[in-house]
Amino acid sequence: MKGCYYCDRDEGFRELLFEVCELRASRVFLCKDQTLAGRCTIMYKDHYEEIFEIPKAERDLYMDDVCLLAETINELFHPDKINYGIYGDECRHVHYTICPKYKGKLGWGKPFVLFPDPAERIYLTDEEYEERINLLRTALLRKSGKAQS
Ligand SMILES: [Zn+2]
Repeated sequence: MKGCYYCDRDEGFRELLFEVCELRASRVFLCKDQTLAGRCTIMYKDHYEEIFEIPKAERDLYMDDVCLLAETINELFHPDKINYGIYGDECRHVHYTICPKYKGKLGWGKPFVLFPDPAERIYLTDEEYEERINLLRTALLRKSGKAQS
């Protein structure tokens, strides 16, 4: 849908969310904000604004993708808990933020912090983002059976 942040994925989007891969019913992005290591978002492949509007068979595939991503983040980054967020008052396209939480770190024991204080945010170098994206992509595609070679 034109004018939708997740459908358009314009330059501003691509500066904050780095595409990892497509899964069966979704696209996965690594968040530029890596204050909590492994934080990703996963959008439903088509434009829906409420999860209950997605036909059940497709929604089931999407939930499988959400679980696959959460399991992969758990294996790669070893958080103490994973938080799942769907808000979207402004950015309405169905997407989860999958936020790994770590004891003693930002937001532990509370809902995860959507926009950490800029002074607290951890950003990586281009090489570190590339490495993290490749790590996630390789694991996700292998686990989803979509891996090449
Ligand atoms: Zn959209």
